[in-house]
Amino acid sequence: MIRPIVLGAGPAGSVAALLLAEGGAEPILIDREPDIGDAICGGFLSWRTAKALRELGCDPAALGARRVTRLRLYAGEREAEAALPEAGYGLSRKALDSTLRHLAVERGAQLEIDRARSVASGRIEGERRTWESAAIFLAIGKHDIRGEARPRDGADLALGLRVRIPASDKLNRMIGAAIELHLFRGGYAGVVLQEDGSANICLAVRKSVLADAGGDPWELLKAIARKNAGFARRMAYAEAELPVDTIGAVPYGWIAHEADSGVYRLGDQAAVIPSLAGEGMAIALASGRAAAQSYLEGEGPSIYQRRFAQRAARPVRVAETLWHLAETSRGAAVMTVAARLIPGLAGMAMRMSRI
Ligand SMILES: Cc1cc2nc3c(=O)[nH]c(=O)nc-3n(C[C@H](O)[C@H](O)[C@H](O)COP(=O)(O)OP(=O)(O)OC[C@H]3O[C@@H](n4cnc5c(N)ncnc54)[C@H](O)[C@@H]3O)c2cc1C
Repeated sequence: MIRPIVLGAGPAGSVAALLLAEGGAEPILIDREPDIGDAICGGFLSWRTAKALRELGCDPAALGARRVTRLRLYAGEREAEAALPEAGYGLSRKALDSTLRHLAVERGAQLEIDRARSVASGRIEGERRTWESAAIFLAIGKHDIRGEARPRDGADLALGLRVRIPASDKLNRMIGAAIELHLFRGGYAGVVLQEDGSANICLAVRKSVLADAGGDPWELLKAIARKNAGFARRMAYAEAELPVDTIGAVPYGWIAHEADSGVYRLGDQAAVIPSLAGEGMAIALASGRAAAQSYLEGEGPSIYQRRFAQRAARPVRVAETLWHLAETSRGAAVMTVAARLIPGLAGMAMRMSRI
């Protein structure tokens, strides 16, 4: 019997492994990290992500996730607020990833720790050993690997930055049950409370914007705060020495249309939706489920990949349009004014960017 190998135990890989195990396929789930960290992420679970998680037996509310019912937009001095179509959640990636990995193992996946160096035709070259299987599920997220790297167009790619401001009553009241998007030229900052009451402040910015701040993330945060009063009020609770986590070159908009080398690509390896939409994790879960089902039904990776690319195309396109609009001063102003004047427009944009 072929034992499928799932490489990467983030949300996409863990869900695929969990469902493969439930289907009796005895998967091996490999991750380079024995200890689950707190991945750089906005930490916002859309209502669709929350529903998908509940279907897997993982209830965000039971993990202490903060209920999020409002979207708040800021652009310079402008501000707008809209109800989310349904309640979402704020949850740290450490809590989510630990739970999903644990569920996968509990349902029968065999967890192995190894760092893969390359993937090619049924083989994964790891630091510990070589892994072989006719069914490989590639779920290594933002990271690229030799043999399966995603093309980069060399343009001004986006970077991710994250600071966590420790819990405080005043900051809690300020943010409340909202996911906030602070829009500025060349990027945005998403702000949401997490299960421990801390505020997760996660930015996606063009590389050139960080370069303009001398390459120093704290200088960049200060520069954004100088021009955006709402952002400055939140950052006033951050101590100067809080660590800033960074991740480089996120290929927003990329979609795998073919399974060229016979590998099932999942999560960010299948489609990278601009993070402003807060739908990356829903894509991770949906692709993990679709790929596992496809395999269990005896379909090859090509059918799965083409079908998933079609499913992901609309939300990725809508999210790209919103992201490009939001990162210009005029576009951000238009978005904020439109959200205030036309009730329902923000809800429509949110619905259209869901998988
Ligand atoms: C700035 C930013 C903000 C975001 N905010 C949100 C948000 O608020 N809401 C939302 O839904 N989405 C958000 N996203 C998107 C979301 O983070 C991703 O879509 C999601 O993490 C993809 O899950 P994944 O399982 O594909 O990959 P990952 O979560 O990246 O997991 C990959 C796994 O593979 C392992 N791995 C990597 N390389 C190797 C290797 N060589 N060998 C072995 N193991 C390996 C890693 O250790 C990790 O466990 C955001 C993204 C960014 C960049």
